[in-house]
Parts: sequence; C-alpha cells; structure tokens
Amino acid sequence: MFSKSKILLIYTGGTIGMRKDFETGALKAFNFSKLLHNIPELKLLDCEIETFSFDQPIDSSNMNPEHWAEMARTIEKNYYNFDGFVVLHGSDTMSYSASALSFMLENLSKPVIFTGSQLPIGDLRTDAKENLITAIQIAALQENGKPIIQEVCLYFEYKLYRGNRTTKINAEHFRAFIAPNYPFLVESGVHLKINSDLFLSTKPEAAFKVHTHLDNNVAIIKMFPGISEVVLSAVLNIKSLKGIILETYGAGNAPTEDWFLFLLQKAIARGLHVINVTQCAIGSVSMGQYETSTTMKNLGIISGKDITTEAAITKLMYLLGQNIPQNEFKTIFETSLRGEMQ
Ligand code: ASP
Repeated sequence: MFSKSKILLIYTGGTIGMRKDFETGALKAFNFSKLLHNIPELKLLDCEIETFSFDQPIDSSNMNPEHWAEMARTIEKNYYNFDGFVVLHGSDTMSYSASALSFMLENLSKPVIFTGSQLPIGDLRTDAKENLITAIQIAALQENGKPIIQEVCLYFEYKLYRGNRTTKINAEHFRAFIAPNYPFLVESGVHLKINSDLFLSTKPEAAFKVHTHLDNNVAIIKMFPGISEVVLSAVLNIKSLKGIILETYGAGNAPTEDWFLFLLQKAIARGLHVINVTQCAIGSVSMGQYETSTTMKNLGIISGKDITTEAAITKLMYLLGQNIPQNEFKTIFETSLRGEMQ
C-alpha cells in the first residue's frame, strides 16, 4: 500500500490570488491564507497539501530571474519531502517562468506544475478552482509509488502542457495558453486523458541538481521590414551583451542586405551568441532552405529550430550562466535539454 501523495503549493502571486483595490479599482495580490480560505474543496482531495508563499506575492509582470531562483531554491529545499509541486503564478509571464525552471531543475523526477487563472479565485465565474484543483490532482498522480509526471508543466483550461513549449496567446479567454509545436500531455474531461508516450523520459540514476545562476546580459530583437542599421547596431554594440534572440521571418529568413549581415558577422566575431527563432507561432527555423537564411547559417548563427521565444531567452540565460566554452555553445544550444525543441 502506497501512502498519499504530498504536494507543496507555492504561491508567487498573479490574478488567482488578487482582489480589487477599493481606491483605484485595480487588481492587486493579497494574502495567501485568504486564498486557501476561498477553496475549501482542497480538503477533499486525496493528497496532503502544504503551502509556501512568497513574502511579497507579485503580479507576474514584475517577474525576474531572482524570483526564479527563489522558486528553484524552494523546490530544492523541499524536494525529498514532497511528491510534487504546484506553482501558483500570474499568467502574463508564466511561460517564461515555466521555461526557466525547466532548465534550472536538472534531472527532475517529480512534477512541477505551474497554474493560475484569468479571474481571481473569489470571482463567481472564476477559472481558478478548476485550474488549481486539477493541477494538484495531476501532480499527485503516481504509478508504483512514483510520480507519473517528472517534468515542469503548465496546466490551464483543461490541458496540461510541457511548460517550456507554451506561450500565452489570449488576454481574455480562459484558454490563455497553447503549446504550438508540441501536443498536450494530459487533457481533463470526465476522465483524465493521459498521453504518457509524450512525457519527458528521465534518467532515474541521475542526481537532481538545481542551477540558480542565470545571466541576463541578453536581448530579443524582433525583425520588421524597415528595421534600421542604427537601431540594430546600437543593440548589438551594447558592451555587456552576450547573446541575442533574433526573431526572424518564416523558416528563419531575414534581409540579405550587406549592412545587416555585416553587423551580425562583426557581433559573432566578437563572441556574441546569435540565436535564430521564428516569429511564426507554429513551425521551425530551417536555415539554408531559402537564400535569405543561407548566409546566416554560414555566419555561425545558432538555430532555435521550433523553440518558443520564451524558452529561447531563458535557455540563453541559463547556458550563459553555466560558463560553457565558446566553441561548444552552439552545439549545446541546438540540443534539446528538457524537451524544449525538436
Ligand atoms: N497580470 C496578471 C499576472 O500575470 C495576470 C494573470 O495572473 O493572469 O500576474
């Protein structure tokens, strides 16, 4: 007989735990104990739940790598005392946080499930209860005494996704997230439809490791017709910059104008890592498919393949924090570390 799953609920902030400020009418994070008070249903779940709250819960628009380190350290400290972790988080930057944590938690063998809501938990029409209750239920799922999910995921509106494959696509609908290039892992209906063949395969013998050092000397440049040499040059010449995500068109295409390619060539020669990620929601970078990406390939630009921008920027910060030798960086970036790319 296996014992009940123990789940740690980590509250970082977000709409789920907000209420209206009487004076301004704006939504603000409030005390976590009141949040739990609003969900007596949690006591009915067939698992033990303990809670931990950030001292100062935040709107996730204020999220930064220090907060990610706090989440990672909280999981590390409690790793062997719990079977799974559910992180309550604002939806605005949830995909960035889920991506960052997926890289920071190496050899994870327990579920870390991010969730939140579009309406506060106290609202009559809230989506928070379903999201929270099902996220906990999924985190508590076990087979032969072991958690069935062993990766960082995001649960929202009846679907569980691999966290580093997600992106927020809707500011109004309850279905706020998609994973454009990877199928959902679990669907909640009358029964839970579990697609276990899509789960990340873990190495049971490998030790769990937490990495909290991220380097944020990075930038994202989104290409647009008309982007000027002065703008691109100003960004690429920032002294402390170590890497950029270049959001290009379609299958990884960009202008073939001399000034553009020359700026990139000079930046790469100085040691800057340039990662090519497509602006398209669906599909992959394929450098060399068109003439407009062939030179970029020859310059040594890194292919982000089908990665999301959220996963690309957090992977860049993570790898820069690992002090990887310059000549290995491209190969490692182009390798799927946590199922974030094909
Ligand atoms: N602004 C909120 C946040 O990201 C939105 C939400 O929670 O859905 O914290």
